[in-house]
Amino acid sequence: MDTNIQDILSYIDSVKDEIDKLALDIHAHPEICFEEYTAMNLVADLCEKHGYKVQRGYAGLETSMRADAEGQPGGPRVAFLAEYDALPGCGEEGGPGHGCGHNLITACSTAAFLALASVIKDYKGSVCLIGTPAEEGGGGKIKLLENGGFKDVDYAMMMHPSSGGVKANLVGRGGRASCDVTVKFFGKAAHSSRPVNGINALNGVISLFNHIDMLRPTFDPQDNINGIIRHGGVASNIIPEYAEAEFCVRADTMHRIEELNAIIEKCAKVSSQLTGARYEIECGDISAERYPNRPMNQAFKDAMEAQGVEMCWPDPKMQYGSSDIGNVSIVMPIIHDYLSITDDKSVQAHNRSFTAAARQPQALEMARKGAAGLACVGLKLIADEAFRAETDGYHKNQIPDFYK
Ligand SMILES: [Zn+2]
Ligand SMILES: [Zn+2]
Repeated sequence: MDTNIQDILSYIDSVKDEIDKLALDIHAHPEICFEEYTAMNLVADLCEKHGYKVQRGYAGLETSMRADAEGQPGGPRVAFLAEYDALPGCGEEGGPGHGCGHNLITACSTAAFLALASVIKDYKGSVCLIGTPAEEGGGGKIKLLENGGFKDVDYAMMMHPSSGGVKANLVGRGGRASCDVTVKFFGKAAHSSRPVNGINALNGVISLFNHIDMLRPTFDPQDNINGIIRHGGVASNIIPEYAEAEFCVRADTMHRIEELNAIIEKCAKVSSQLTGARYEIECGDISAERYPNRPMNQAFKDAMEAQGVEMCWPDPKMQYGSSDIGNVSIVMPIIHDYLSITDDKSVQAHNRSFTAAARQPQALEMARKGAAGLACVGLKLIADEAFRAETDGYHKNQIPDFYK
């Protein structure tokens, strides 16, 4: 490792107490999507204390923030992303809790920002920290992208906590595209002894499910439409005047999700014509599939292994979840690599056991090591033009033409 990487490691060691405290304070004040005022202010306060310019309520989102450190003019801008939303029902005592360990993402990205910022004046380039609210269901990064929050950023990086030991230290894991779709049917209530006097909205929903199921054999293997009935009537002696279904749609690409959503709409239309119940369809933001940048993944792997943390490439057969980092990955090279915060294989994300693990010394240490790893990749992007060209070239080739 060269001198500046040593500087990064010793810098992170010097802010250890502040970073651990940040992770623990956010853990102790869990806030769900778009309510992360405490977390956002804790990060903003810490960056200001270190002398950096901070914007609170960045890019039109009240619980987003951005801190900046400028090096010499010219050169690329590297962003570290801080997620800090908690999950409902994952608190150790009930209520919300950090069952996805986003408190550690914030600690990691904040430490990476402070570390790279501490040496940036020697280089052409700049670094920023962006607080990205509401990853769990709110699509905060999608809204930041729409509002221009990433327009001057060239590369974005973060890590995500995982569990189960070395095999869960993953670089280059992908993610499927996903979208929530709500379909509402409006009918007319009537006495159930005289159904002919009403319009059965629940039949609209049931017909919709049946039509989707009928088409399932024609779907691609990676397509996945899972539905639930949110409303199906109020009493069995009343013809339901209102019914509502919600679908989680997953596919290989955002492009394919749009096609599947159009299929759902077609099925809703047919069901409406058949039953006479009027329909409305609402498609939420689409979390795009993820394009991890392999040269950056490799650089992160190298930086982690230099600190004694073994990293693995994922099993290609693994079924991936979804995240709004995918939308960022279409626009610029990103990494979103996984670091295991506990060796206990029974601990699973989105569960109270993960919340408990996310405040242990092992988790805090991994967040700091991850910060050093991310800061090293950031420094390489800023200092090494050939690496930058390799990274940019990889990104250009990996993004499908329909996004260009
Ligand atoms: Zn999660
Ligand atoms: Zn998460």
